[in-house]
Amino acid sequence: LVPRLRPFTTTIFAEMSALAVATGAVNLGQGFPDTDGPAGMLEAARDAIAGGVNQYPPGPGMPVLREAVARARLRDRGQRFDPDTEVLVTVGATEAITAAVLALVEAGDEVVMLEPYYDSYPAAVAMAGARHVSVPLRPDATGRWSLDPDRLAAAITPATRLLLLNSPHNPTGTVLTREELSAIAELAVRHDLVVVTDEVYEYLTYDDAVHVPIGSLPGMAGRTLTVSSAGKTFNATGWKIGWVCGPAELVAAVRAAKQFLTFVGGAPFQPAVAHALEHEMGWVDGLRKDLQDKRDRLCEGLAAAGFGVQRPQGTYFVPTDIRPLTPPGTEADGLRFCLELPGRAGVVAVPQQVFHDDPAAGRPYVRWAFCKRDEVIDEAVRRLAG
Ligand code: PMP
Ligand code: GLN
Repeated sequence: LVPRLRPFTTTIFAEMSALAVATGAVNLGQGFPDTDGPAGMLEAARDAIAGGVNQYPPGPGMPVLREAVARARLRDRGQRFDPDTEVLVTVGATEAITAAVLALVEAGDEVVMLEPYYDSYPAAVAMAGARHVSVPLRPDATGRWSLDPDRLAAAITPATRLLLLNSPHNPTGTVLTREELSAIAELAVRHDLVVVTDEVYEYLTYDDAVHVPIGSLPGMAGRTLTVSSAGKTFNATGWKIGWVCGPAELVAAVRAAKQFLTFVGGAPFQPAVAHALEHEMGWVDGLRKDLQDKRDRLCEGLAAAGFGVQRPQGTYFVPTDIRPLTPPGTEADGLRFCLELPGRAGVVAVPQQVFHDDPAAGRPYVRWAFCKRDEVIDEAVRRLAG
């Protein structure tokens, strides 16, 4: 393996899910739902397979899906995209992000991202031979992981090519506010930067949190690539149908890279996701409500077990502080905690330090997924209490 990819040998999600299988532990580590998406969507996929939609779809994605994405973006976000030139279907959000980085960043350039970061971001930047620069989100007095825009301003240099954002944010559950996003947008305009925004949890927001797409803010439409995916919205993480929307020139650049990564993908799932975007948003609203209840269920259980709970505004993850459970005089170490937890309590969680450049900043934090059936959450809570 070339040196620049050596830090990325195994993803934490694969490692922790393998540990869950090997130990028979309840897996609240890797974020994937344990129930299926809307029946109409599953039926549409079966119909597509039975109906012969089994060969290479068109390079930019099937028109029916590109049109559904453009309509959903206008309907739900007020953003207008031309389905022919401004929407590209990808193999999940992961490919959209990696292809965007490969298409827009040269070796030696810098990509600024929020830390903690989703693990594929620094890997994508490393594949491009570029350098990532992290801007910290850190817990404020209320436990919300918040952005200090001055830290972002300080991270931008003449070598900065891209800002890579994520809101609702994995692993912290923060939904960036309009004020935070406006501050980011101002910097992007001032420094003439392209923004890639990962909005895969756009529909999973709770209480009064509102998802604001940064591409809808003044001066941003012409410089923003907005990424989303069917995986989280429709409980279909294994389908790997994602998309990226933006100005034609930037989308064409992403397509140039994408065509030599996977070419195309997921033919029969594309019309099924198009169906879901058009007809299953009521189901998504139910999912959002269910997930909010599950969030509260898990937060309550984790708090009762002694964790410092940082109640998320979005996503399906709860970040927790393990310091209240750490014996005095010992250092809280989330990685050690998560490696020992399956043996000790029969539960798997994810140590957040793997999402940090400086592991020390993430060491006391452990992330739990709540996109699981109530009985699974209850069993995990029971085991943690014991
Ligand atoms: N971005 C974030 C923030 C995620 O949590 C995930 C999770 N799975 C992805 C991207 C990947 O999405 P996909 O499965 O559509 O590639
Ligand atoms: N996004 C999911 C998570 O954060 C996992 C995706 C993966 O396994 N790569 O848990």
